[in-house]
Amino acid sequence: MPKKVVLLGGTGSIGSSVLSIIRSYPEEFQLLGLSGHSQKEKIRALVEEFHPAYVCLPELPEWRENYRGINFLSGEEGLNILASLPEADMVVIAIAGLAGLGPTMAAIQHQKHLLSANKESIVAAGPLINASLDATNRQIIPLDSEHNAIFTLLTRFERESVKNIILTASGGPFFKKPADSRTSLQDVLKHPTWSMGSYITVNSATMLNKGFEVLEAHYLFRIPFESIRVLIHPQSLVHGIVELTDGTQVMVASPSDMRYPIGMAMFYPRIPPRSESSFSLVVKPLEFFDIPEGRFPLLKLAYEMGKKGGLFPLALNALNEEIVGACLEHRIRFIDIEILIEKGLERFSASEEARLSLSWESLFPAEKKARAIAQELIEERQRAN
Ligand code: NAD
Ligand code: MG
Repeated sequence: MPKKVVLLGGTGSIGSSVLSIIRSYPEEFQLLGLSGHSQKEKIRALVEEFHPAYVCLPELPEWRENYRGINFLSGEEGLNILASLPEADMVVIAIAGLAGLGPTMAAIQHQKHLLSANKESIVAAGPLINASLDATNRQIIPLDSEHNAIFTLLTRFERESVKNIILTASGGPFFKKPADSRTSLQDVLKHPTWSMGSYITVNSATMLNKGFEVLEAHYLFRIPFESIRVLIHPQSLVHGIVELTDGTQVMVASPSDMRYPIGMAMFYPRIPPRSESSFSLVVKPLEFFDIPEGRFPLLKLAYEMGKKGGLFPLALNALNEEIVGACLEHRIRFIDIEILIEKGLERFSASEEARLSLSWESLFPAEKKARAIAQELIEERQRAN
């Protein structure tokens, strides 16, 4: 019997790769539930193609009348129902941003087999998610390529033998030549190796994406920040490396195509029986570089916020979502992002919300505060530019 898959965020970039695996392996997987947010026509096309039994949208669509056998759900409540369906064998969270947190928690509380790409929720609420995973004896299988590589490696070695984990970063478009005031959004969105949503592509250019991934790894694998390193690897073929106590480094390599880590996660503990494309290490030289001194300050800042803990990782994420959103709307320049995030964290530190400890009650006021600070800063910057 094929495994019944619930996919939240099916219209996005990760969602499309998940659907591509389901398409390739109809004998292994069947789409049970699907959610999408803004691309209503795309959701309808997916409903036509996959005939899932459950579909969730922000609001109930008029066209539901044409699909009598399907259960239509809506809003946050609908997402939580989808994430906890008793008949689901697998729940995949491919939603972007903090909107993924509610369904992540619903899936854990209902002891679902959970796969997630939604790093923002793990960054913002890692300790709360971990407490819930411990209470229900569950784990999250990561879809993010670096984390999936590390996950695969960690199943092979005893924890005492692992000295460090290393996440690779492409370095983005500004590794060789830093961005300046003439850098356009088009330059930023030209990612050298990966094709992804625009928000995560901007985060790759500032390297805050890697910063978030350091926090994601810290919570997912419960490894101290001191043992998580980042190396620039412009070819993006090696995704994660585990350094063992004797100095041996073991790495995972695959093409920069999210179907590889997603396939590994969906088949876990098996391995997908066929490859998605041909792949050879001969085609390119493999290079690795340390982060150049003084470059990519947001990566360093992410480590600092991770060590500070509390509501600071959440504030960093919320500030970044607003500030990058303003950059994507051409309201501020790319080079403003770093400065505004640094200022935003200073203002957040001085707020009452920053003194609260991380809890379900404090998450949303802190997020609201950080978003309000970001908007103040964006408006100030727009007036100055
Ligand atoms: P995307 O923008 O392409 O897709 C986001 C999906 O989330 C869409 O289906 C959208 O409908 C849904 N969504 C957005 N806002 C929502 C809301 N408020 N409520 C419910 N659904 C909502 O993003 P993506 O690039 O596919 O990324 C998805 C997640 O995976 C993110 O957390 C991202 O950081 C992570 N990730 C992405 C990649 C990648 O290659 N794209 C790699 C690693 C991790
Ligand atoms: Mg990644």
